[in-house]
Amino acid sequence: MPLNPQRTIAELKELRALTGDADGAQRVAWTDTWGTARAWFKDKLAGLPVEYETDEAGNVWVTLRGASDKTMLMGGHLDSVPNGGWLDGCLNVMGALEVLRRITEEGTPPVTVRLVDWADEEGARFGRSLFGSSAASNSMNPDELRDLKDKDGITLADALAKFGVNLDRAKEAHKQLHNAAAYLELHIEQGPVLESLNLPLGVVLGTFGVERHSIRFTGQAAHSGSTPMDKRKDALGGVSKLHLAIRDIAVRNRGVCTVGRVETKPGIVTSVVADALMTLDQRHLDAAALATMYREAQEASQRIAQEEKIEVAWSKLWDIHPILFHPDLIELCDQAIMETCGVSHRLPSGPLHDAAEVARAGVPTIMLFVQSLYGISHNKIEDTKEEHLALCVQALDKLATKTMDWILKP
Ligand SMILES: [Zn+2]
Repeated sequence: MPLNPQRTIAELKELRALTGDADGAQRVAWTDTWGTARAWFKDKLAGLPVEYETDEAGNVWVTLRGASDKTMLMGGHLDSVPNGGWLDGCLNVMGALEVLRRITEEGTPPVTVRLVDWADEEGARFGRSLFGSSAASNSMNPDELRDLKDKDGITLADALAKFGVNLDRAKEAHKQLHNAAAYLELHIEQGPVLESLNLPLGVVLGTFGVERHSIRFTGQAAHSGSTPMDKRKDALGGVSKLHLAIRDIAVRNRGVCTVGRVETKPGIVTSVVADALMTLDQRHLDAAALATMYREAQEASQRIAQEEKIEVAWSKLWDIHPILFHPDLIELCDQAIMETCGVSHRLPSGPLHDAAEVARAGVPTIMLFVQSLYGISHNKIEDTKEEHLALCVQALDKLATKTMDWILKP
């Protein structure tokens, strides 16, 4: 039977009916509903000449042996956020399954083909995203996760144990990447770019690097009635000016910068602000441009502190380098999209994905985005036109064929 993208759409609806409710998808990792989704997926493999295994981190691997041990991986995640959408993560898995079926029909493939369902991509229950893929890539530090608890006080270790996963052995999943010659991941865009360009599909260049900091301005509390404007040391003045400066920095450097939280003390209506804290999240695909945005924000904060006669102090919350996908696979993905719908577009990914972890582990990696309606995800209204869903499965299929040839190229 040839590739049948309509079957993928029907199966995604089946999964939605089985594991969602009126509020959206409920396949939160390490819960019974997630287990139901995974059992349903396993049933879909019946009759295929594949091997099925779960690794030490809880990732599920489906293997079709090929003529060569060199392996092409295709992946996604069946887990969702609570009240999530019907496509995030599971489109990747079910699209890859359809491609695997098509390859199976044609006999033994030239290379080994493996489908992976990563465990706990979303981190919805314990706040740690990319659990399974970071175990496989070796970037996970189990000691940082050991004491994580969900909102009911259940520890991550106990939740994992229910699924037969031992945190201290999770990184043994790294051996699954042995022989991996390429990793392909299809995903909904989760943003508005392709929709605004009226394009169904796009090639992902890589995932943004992130600089995440908290910035504290310190001034002096003073009575709102008795303190003249020119005698104030208003810490909130620092935040206000810096917020606007940071938006200019983002636009000038073609990145994105966000101030997501502001806290003031004493935080009462009758006092000048003595202490103002803001968070800053800066993202860019280019490491040098990200460094420039960071430096410009720091310089702006120093200048503003002087103007306002207040103090400023920075502290780092988190950072990660940009992760670039493989140039050859970017070209192949572009070709696959052109052959599928005649027009392609290259764009970065703002969110991190399992693909970033696989790329970090040194496996040539590529992602393919399909348009998201309204640019919305992690929400029950998340949607993609069915004609675009069909196109993305076709493009993934073409990309898989090209990638198998590329893997065997001398
Ligand atoms: Zn996802």
